[in-house]
Amino acid sequence: MSFSKESITRALRGVPAAGASGDLVSAGVLKWVSLCETYVSVKLLMPQGATPGDISQMTSMARAAIESAATDEGVKLDSIILEFINDAGDVVRTARFGAPAGVNAAPAQGSQGSPDMGHRPIGGLADTRPAGQTRAPTPQGAVEATPSIRNIIAVGAGKGGVGKSTIALNLAVGLARRGASVGLMDGDIYGPSLPTLLGLGAMEPIVVDGKLQPFLVHGVKSMTIGKLVDPDKPLIWRGPMAHGAFKQLAEQTNWGELDYLIIDLPPGTGDVALTMAQMLKLSGAVVVCTPQKVAQDDAVRATKMFQQLGIEVLGVVENMSFFIGDDGKEYDIFGKGGAEFMAQRLNVPFLGAVPLTMGLRKNSDEGNPTANFAGGTITRAFEELISRVEGQLNLVSMKKGRGPTLTIS
Ligand code: ADP
Repeated sequence: MSFSKESITRALRGVPAAGASGDLVSAGVLKWVSLCETYVSVKLLMPQGATPGDISQMTSMARAAIESAATDEGVKLDSIILEFINDAGDVVRTARFGAPAGVNAAPAQGSQGSPDMGHRPIGGLADTRPAGQTRAPTPQGAVEATPSIRNIIAVGAGKGGVGKSTIALNLAVGLARRGASVGLMDGDIYGPSLPTLLGLGAMEPIVVDGKLQPFLVHGVKSMTIGKLVDPDKPLIWRGPMAHGAFKQLAEQTNWGELDYLIIDLPPGTGDVALTMAQMLKLSGAVVVCTPQKVAQDDAVRATKMFQQLGIEVLGVVENMSFFIGDDGKEYDIFGKGGAEFMAQRLNVPFLGAVPLTMGLRKNSDEGNPTANFAGGTITRAFEELISRVEGQLNLVSMKKGRGPTLTIS
């Protein structure tokens, strides 16, 4: 058995909840667990009326339980961060164990750490946020470009709201389910939606030696600007700031070895795509489009932009192709086939059609993309899309004379 979030939860069942009957899990004190390789982060609801002594005792017992579970499974943890939150979700106390120098948890807004166990500011990251949105990291020099990533795929769209992030996310989750090591970067710096679509909830980013540790959820390593800025403030980036924000996410995230890095781009044809083309060696781009004429017109512009930037267009996906109602019937609302026709016209591959369904909408809102792979029409649509993307990637690499880069059994 390997060490997992479930191992941590199981371990915390052995820790009594101060001021309540039962253990941390049964008493509802455990609110959130995240595990990223050897870094553990846990959030506990501060029990009503708990004394400082109770808190210290719970903290040391929780730490011992997690360490012992890890040791039992042959894992040496680098860091455990235990945070106590109030009913509003604000962090009121933090304990950090085993973190090497340079490891910090990004403080939640309004948190008040105690002097000995409190938050330290996030360190080692360039502050690229728009004025007034400071959770103030300190600037740092350039870092090396993304190493050890075999395929970088950008997912773009001419328009917002056509399901670009949804396709990027499910592409990432589906590839990971096939056994690949996958990263997902929310490059949609103007309207990051991955915190919701991935169900990141109250998770906070962790920085180790000046690098952001990606969130490991649904089998995918992910990073989003949505977790580095105030979620309620508008994101207004001028050109250089947009460049900096994108660069920071790509270069200052500890992606490690990846088979695929999927990048969810902002809609349209702007600065970010240019930055991306300059700094990353892309394997190709996927263009998402809905069937309507207006969406097609914008998707044509997006496709041509990728081509002008020298990025191979792997193909076009028609999202919201048709509607499947609760009655199981198909309704052709937007004019199914429009994106396929557009792809033919542009002489780029068509990668498949994804229907509009209540289930997909619900799983997205609930941050549970894994549920899209439980079987049925949506699963088939995504599996087909993923196979075609893999096929196109192999074709592209053969064209470049490299031969197929990836074999997934
Ligand atoms: P974009 O990234 O293009 O702005 P999103 O992926 O954020 O779009 O999708 C916008 C909304 O539409 C989200 O709520 C998402 O869950 C929903 N959505 C996208 N595609 C589908 C689909 N095929 N079926 C149902 N809902 C969808």
